[in-house]
Amino acid sequence: MSTVIGIDLGTTNSCVSVMEGDAPVVITNSEGYRTTPSIVAFKKDGTVEVGSAAKRQAALHPDRTCLSIKREMGNDCRKKIDGRIYSPQEVSAYILRKLKKEAQDYLGKKITDAVITVPAYFSDAQRQATKDAGRIAGLNVLRIINEPTAAALAYGLDNDEPQKIIVYDLGGGTFDVSLIEIGDGVIEVLATSGDNHLGGDDFDARISERIAEEIKVRYGVNIKKDEAAMYRVREEAERVKKELSSAMATNVHLPFIAKNKEGAVSLEMTITKDEFDRLTADLVERTVEPVENAIADAHVAKSEISKVLLVGGSTRIPAVRERVTRLLGKEPSGSLNPDECVALGAAVQGSKLGGELEVGSPADNILLMDVTPLSLSIETVGGIASRLIERNTTIPTRHSRIFTTASNFQTSVDVRVFQGERRFTRDNKLIGNFKLSGIKRAFAGVPQIEVTFDIDANGIVNVSAKDLGTGNEHSITITSSSNLSEEEIQRAIWKANVYEEEDGERFCLADEKRKAAQIVKKAESKLSEHRKDWDKTIKKEVKDEIAKMKRLLLKLRFTKNEEAADTVRHSEKNLKALLDNFEKMHSGHR
Ligand code: AMP
Repeated sequence: MSTVIGIDLGTTNSCVSVMEGDAPVVITNSEGYRTTPSIVAFKKDGTVEVGSAAKRQAALHPDRTCLSIKREMGNDCRKKIDGRIYSPQEVSAYILRKLKKEAQDYLGKKITDAVITVPAYFSDAQRQATKDAGRIAGLNVLRIINEPTAAALAYGLDNDEPQKIIVYDLGGGTFDVSLIEIGDGVIEVLATSGDNHLGGDDFDARISERIAEEIKVRYGVNIKKDEAAMYRVREEAERVKKELSSAMATNVHLPFIAKNKEGAVSLEMTITKDEFDRLTADLVERTVEPVENAIADAHVAKSEISKVLLVGGSTRIPAVRERVTRLLGKEPSGSLNPDECVALGAAVQGSKLGGELEVGSPADNILLMDVTPLSLSIETVGGIASRLIERNTTIPTRHSRIFTTASNFQTSVDVRVFQGERRFTRDNKLIGNFKLSGIKRAFAGVPQIEVTFDIDANGIVNVSAKDLGTGNEHSITITSSSNLSEEEIQRAIWKANVYEEEDGERFCLADEKRKAAQIVKKAESKLSEHRKDWDKTIKKEVKDEIAKMKRLLLKLRFTKNEEAADTVRHSEKNLKALLDNFEKMHSGHR
């Protein structure tokens, strides 16, 4: 039995939760907030900041700050900062590590097990990358679960009467929709759909564009290439967007945002809700098709859907709510907090996996059945994607099919695995490949090769191929699709541990410096206090010791190792002992 935390690793904000008794609770971070900005800042002194602190420095050093890294999960993007290369997994690991620490501080114990959520529409590569990020952060990721499913789990805890619900999840960078059936303690995902590149960031970008255009028209300056200025514009755009969720108009205020021939220029303009709605209407509209697809795939009539749950900060946009209401013919439910329900659901699932729940408690009674978001196929002659597993199949699942050879006396076959809905493999995503060799020589069509796809509860794929003639078998877990090899992951884990140690050393050093500075101050004040009653030799001894400490403190500004901290510690003890001794001697004389 172990405590398992639930983590919603969001594009814009992340949230961590844990089960307390029968109910999940959100863990407040050290800054006092219930969510943490998913922002990582690499500072010049080598330290790394995550969350609000990183957000504050982002405007000054956009080149040293990583935002919306979730959008890059599972691809080849790399961040280069101070000559060091960071994969999206490593950057995400900093966020996860901060959340893990917050949970440890809250619970007062070490935490290693976690359930992390991902958008339902995340591909195999993106899921694997999320799992790897967890490993790099020192977490044992017990399960990856889909965000809308987690939200449904949080909802289903208090609402277990039989019903079909739709979870519409529009976050900072992704859009997901799931049709879910709840009843008799079972939460079954019937279908899921979405768009991995649609979210609040796109709405901000539209306002940013509008602001940049206005600056160009009014002052003739193109600020789009000025990274620092654009960061400020994007921040202002997000503020404007949020304000327009409750106001009919708002002012854009950007003092000294650019320079032209006449000097610094500032921008003041008004954006109305109508204008914002016009600028973003197509983005809202892009959510319609995935909703329709999920409903069609689930073979459910709209009238059968009894609840619409809105998840993700961007569902606070009135135009989004209105569109959903029009599309589904009912007002969305307000019973869930869109920023927290995903983490809460993850904690429920975590406690089930950790075996912490009381037998028979409401959360213990829930059974979760999720689906795979995309179809899986292998390539056959002519580049055809031959499907083994259809999208929206309940996971875990296992499917096998017999294939054969295309040429006479072929002794090996390439098994190329694809994810996606298109008929030809060239239009789908290659997620892994391997060669099965040692096939018995025979005419084309004779050998029988059994290909098996296995999707585990995390939605991660294993593929195997077996020559039934020889019994020869080859299998792979599609880990390479995360874009980090096992060696790279191990290196990242090692680097992360070194970072944690360095962090500890830095803390140690900072603590020593503070203590040493205090003792120097104390010694100086003692010297002045006893300037008349201490004799010369005593005063000289103390003065020498103070000078030595000051020299060491100066040196500490340039060295950062544990040895330096030790020397200061030693010297500090000396000075303290000296002072105590002289004080005692003096009081004895009195
Ligand atoms: P999430 O990933 O669920 O944390 O959602 C974050 C997204 O929600 C960001 O793009 C935020 O700008 C957006 N958001 C948060 N609050 C509001 C609001 N009141 N109105 C519009 N968008 C919001």
